[in-house]
Amino acid sequence: MEDKSIWQYDGMTWPEMRDTLLRIPQPVVAIPFGTVEDHGPHLPLSTDNDILMGTLNEVARRSQGDLLVTPLIPFGLDEHHMDFPGTISIELEICLAYVSQVAISIARHGFTHILIVNGHGSNQPVADLAARKCVLAEGIICASTTVNAAVDPVLVRDVVEEQRKGGPGSIAHAGEYETSMMLHLAPALVHMEKATRDIGQLKLKYFNWDHPEPSAFSWQDYWSRFTKDGICGDPTVASAESGKVIFEATVTRFLELVREFQTIPIRDRVDHHK
Ligand SMILES: [Zn+2]
Repeated sequence: MEDKSIWQYDGMTWPEMRDTLLRIPQPVVAIPFGTVEDHGPHLPLSTDNDILMGTLNEVARRSQGDLLVTPLIPFGLDEHHMDFPGTISIELEICLAYVSQVAISIARHGFTHILIVNGHGSNQPVADLAARKCVLAEGIICASTTVNAAVDPVLVRDVVEEQRKGGPGSIAHAGEYETSMMLHLAPALVHMEKATRDIGQLKLKYFNWDHPEPSAFSWQDYWSRFTKDGICGDPTVASAESGKVIFEATVTRFLELVREFQTIPIRDRVDHHK
C-alpha cells in the first residue's frame, strides 16, 4: 500500500500532526470541495470529485510534504442540477458554514496557510466566502482556488486552448475538457459511445460560457432548461492524450502555486484608532 502519511491529513496520528505543525516551512493544507452531479450519459456522477482528487493527490505526492490534503467534502451547491437523477444538493448557507468550519478548525490547530480547492463551478462563490470567513475569524492566510479548468481555466488557459479540438463552447461541462481528463484518470468510467455534442447555453455579447472569454455578468440557470443530456460542450472530440497533457500541466503549475502561496507572510494588523 502506498505510504500517504506524509501528505494525507487524516493519515497522521496526533503526535505526527503536532510535529508537522512545527515544520519550517509549514505545509499548506488543501481542503477539496466537490460535488456529486450529472455529467452527461457518458461520465459518472463522481466526475468533478474524480478530477479534483486525482489532480490534488498527485500534486501532494510530488510536493514532498509541502501540501497536505484533507478528506474530500463530496457535496456542494447543486440545486440547479436536481432535474437530473442522482445529483445531491446542499443549501448554500449550509455549504458555507460547513466548509468555513473545516478551514477554521484547521487554523485553530496552528496551520497558517490553507487552500480551499474547489472542483465544481457553483461552489466557487461559496469557496471564496468560506476562505474569507476563515481569514476574518483566525487572521491566517486562507484562499480559494480550483484545479478544474472547466470551473476556471486560469491555471492552464494556454494548454487547454492549445489542446482544444472542438469549436466555441466545447469545454464547459461534461465537454471536451472534463471528458479528456476522465479518459486520462479513469478510462473505465467513460462511455465514449454515449457522448454527444450539446452546446445549448446562450452566447450573447455580454454573456458567454466558453473559455477563455469571460462573461460580463454571472448567471446560473436550471440546467434542464438548456441541455437534454446534461452536457454543455463537445465530449466527442475528447482524448486521453489531451487529458494527459492538461493533467501534467495542471499538476506542475498547481505545485508552483502551492509553493508560492506557502511564502505569503502574515503581516501585522494596525489599529489606527489609537
Ligand atoms: Zn464537472
